[in-house]
Amino acid sequence: MAINMKNKSITLRGYAKINLFLDVISKRADGYHNIDGVMQTVSLYDTVTVSVSEGEDEILLSCSDTSLPTDRRNLAYRAAESFREAFGITGHSIEISIDKNIPVAAGMAGGSTDCAAVLSALGQIFDIDKTELFTVAEKLGADVPFCLYKGTARTAGIGERLTPVTPMPDCFIVIGRMGEGVSTPVAFSRLDEVLSVCEEEVRHADLSRMTSALEKDVHALAPTLYNSFGEVIFPIHEGADKVRRALEESGALRVLLSGSGPSVFALYETEEGAQAGYDALRAIGADRFITRPVRRCDEE
Ligand code: ATP
Repeated sequence: MAINMKNKSITLRGYAKINLFLDVISKRADGYHNIDGVMQTVSLYDTVTVSVSEGEDEILLSCSDTSLPTDRRNLAYRAAESFREAFGITGHSIEISIDKNIPVAAGMAGGSTDCAAVLSALGQIFDIDKTELFTVAEKLGADVPFCLYKGTARTAGIGERLTPVTPMPDCFIVIGRMGEGVSTPVAFSRLDEVLSVCEEEVRHADLSRMTSALEKDVHALAPTLYNSFGEVIFPIHEGADKVRRALEESGALRVLLSGSGPSVFALYETEEGAQAGYDALRAIGADRFITRPVRRCDEE
């Protein structure tokens, strides 16, 4: 593709997600799992800057979290590589800088959102239609399409099939994290053992009840949320269980694991309520964040 451009730089927010509903319903023959659920963007974000200049075909990545790789092992790097291949970009150097705030390996799609932010920034720089980016996103990871989409969405397949649903009612969401990260593949294999997940689809909770509650308020929504991983992660992850108890005792409307953990989130109607949850997490020494739901339209 011939692009007439000298230097261009774009800074975007890569938002974290939580899972309002995550039902692991079957295991596919290829080892992946089919899920049925609803994801929600929250106002905790990494800041991702992408700068493009004419020159060598190189990708340079820097990250404020120095424990993360800066080569192909970083999903944001792979996003730039895949974008270049998909749209035939040559003769450009791509520089990526990530200011990391989202906890790593915490069930909040931190890597996927950086990846989506790079695709989005490059899409704007090279004037690629957003719909074309989804094809690239899908190949980079199950959560990447949602991170590109943002807001509230039903997620099916391995997480990549998205359909719009009513945006989440406004509320305060406190997120806590403590202890070791959870490896998503390990969490799935534990789930296979405990819930005997097999090829036949088994529904563990009522998704239509949950999506109807999205049209009401946070009080109606709270009891309808669900996460299959809760059953297998809380009994084996001391940090996640401690965070859960602290948030429950603080008066949250509902407390749930996000993804395969160990992040745990709690819903509150008021800011004072959320502050009580935050203080309870401070008392036990957990990483903690007060967030709000982010709507798709806020970000477009
Ligand atoms: P998900 O909720 O999508 O399962 P997660 O929040 O549990 O993801 P990540 O924070 O994305 O997990 O990290 C998972 C692994 O990905 C880590 O081991 C980390 O080294 C690697 N990784 C690669 N690139 C990144 C990135 N840009 N940010 C965070 N982790 C990254």
